[in-house]
Amino acid sequence: MEYRELGKTGLKVSRLGFGGLPLQRVDEEETKKIVKSLLENGVNFIDTARGYTVSEGLLGEALEGVRDRFVLATKSMARTKEEMARDIGISLGNLRTDYIDLYQVHNPNMEQLETVIAPGGALEALFEAREAGKIGHIGITAHSPEVFKKALELPWVETIMFPYNVVENQGEEFIRACQEKKIGFIAMKPMAGGNIESGSLAVRFILDNPAVTVAIPGMAAVSEVEENAAAAGDHSPLTDEEKAQIQKIRQELGSQFCRRCNYCAPCTVGISIPNVFLFAGYLRRYDLAGWARSRYDSQAVKADACVECGECESRCPYQLPIREMLKKAHEELMAVKK
Ligand code: SF4
Ligand code: SF4
Repeated sequence: MEYRELGKTGLKVSRLGFGGLPLQRVDEEETKKIVKSLLENGVNFIDTARGYTVSEGLLGEALEGVRDRFVLATKSMARTKEEMARDIGISLGNLRTDYIDLYQVHNPNMEQLETVIAPGGALEALFEAREAGKIGHIGITAHSPEVFKKALELPWVETIMFPYNVVENQGEEFIRACQEKKIGFIAMKPMAGGNIESGSLAVRFILDNPAVTVAIPGMAAVSEVEENAAAAGDHSPLTDEEKAQIQKIRQELGSQFCRRCNYCAPCTVGISIPNVFLFAGYLRRYDLAGWARSRYDSQAVKADACVECGECESRCPYQLPIREMLKKAHEELMAVKK
């Protein structure tokens, strides 16, 4: 396993990290086996989130006695000081530790980022927690290039997490900027939300980019840890066959795949278009139907409110048939039994 400095944090992390989202579909015993396998395979970076329901708690239990062998990262959707202080406390309790190495502001949009930074915002709680030794470093996660770009200018941002994979390479320029500014770059959604079937190819493609500090595929089985660790340990250049496979995937997914860039916004009636596609993706590919449905239920405006004005489609750089895709996603999400 190769290790890298995580920006200027002084932390040394394995280039393959563990994404904790899929733990929502496994139990305590499986999580313990996964954590054991991470240790055996030299993976020392674990990322989870307050929003991944049971994930923090399962990890906390599985990390008993070995917590110090990992760099532990989590994140919260809290935007105000009060909410963030509460969430940090809950994360510490769930993870059964008195110290979290990296705490991240989870996927704010531009407006929410303003709230986070403003007086009384979540950042104040993060600073206080760092001062008190409860957390070590502060990062941010984003889905839109606009937020990524903004994050690069914020002096308190030590790491940035953004989707990066074979078909989602819209952040490449900013990923290079992370390297130049010594901000740790964490590649999320390495499998493009499950769209890329070969885990090995996905991991090798990402780690082939020297500007990526760590890639964090979500894993829910020991076999996945082993497969990804083997791919991360293979430092040979991508073969012609692998490059051809990448081209094929790009051609197949290119026409119908939402990159969550949010260029289609604002929707005339306020639908969060990329969120709808994200939840539908979780439903189709991750076997997380209940969770996808509950996230969809929390959306203020659902996809069936679309008035077919077509404004979004004229702004989508990938010419996606958004209206048609929204209808399909809504039908699939609403068909999930609660
Ligand atoms: S076509 Fe539908 S989704 Fe697109 S902007 Fe109009 S109302 Fe929103
Ligand atoms: S629908 Fe198009 S513009 Fe909107 S987020 Fe997806 S890829 Fe970007």
